[in-house]
Amino acid sequence: MDKRWMSMSRSSDEYKAGLEDFLDFAFTNGSIGEMILCPCIRCGNGVFVTREQAKSHLIWKGFIKGYTQWLAHGEVGDKVTVRSMVDSSKICAVGVVRNLDPTSEVGDTPLGSHWCEIHVNVPVENDEKLMRPYHNFRKIGDAIGVAIAWPINLVILEEN
Ligand SMILES: [Zn+2]
Repeated sequence: MDKRWMSMSRSSDEYKAGLEDFLDFAFTNGSIGEMILCPCIRCGNGVFVTREQAKSHLIWKGFIKGYTQWLAHGEVGDKVTVRSMVDSSKICAVGVVRNLDPTSEVGDTPLGSHWCEIHVNVPVENDEKLMRPYHNFRKIGDAIGVAIAWPINLVILEEN
């Protein structure tokens, strides 16, 4: 998806047209009822708003800086493979990056730097132990569809 409009002037036609595309996307993929989390600077993805409210905030205030991957609005992150701690050539799971923010929490523990939060889509090595087990999640095979923390040097970006 072309998002160059996001860095253009908020009074430009490109920005306004792009904003409509964003709202269409968000209300199709990331709405709850008739509301979405507002990604404007003031709301910071912390407040639910209607389409009209979101539109007006995003014209008057603009988007949160750097919010180019719309993770809070249903956009899937980069596809990655998770590699084994024992042998980094071995793929343990396939998933998507959810978060790189060191202060965000996975199972009540802050991620910290050099770690990333991965949403596991396909476990490959079911018996590989999680480096940071939490709740009932102990092994990769337990973690289907949930978030896990993994060191960033063992998370490899896939081509598509
Ligand atoms: Zn807002």
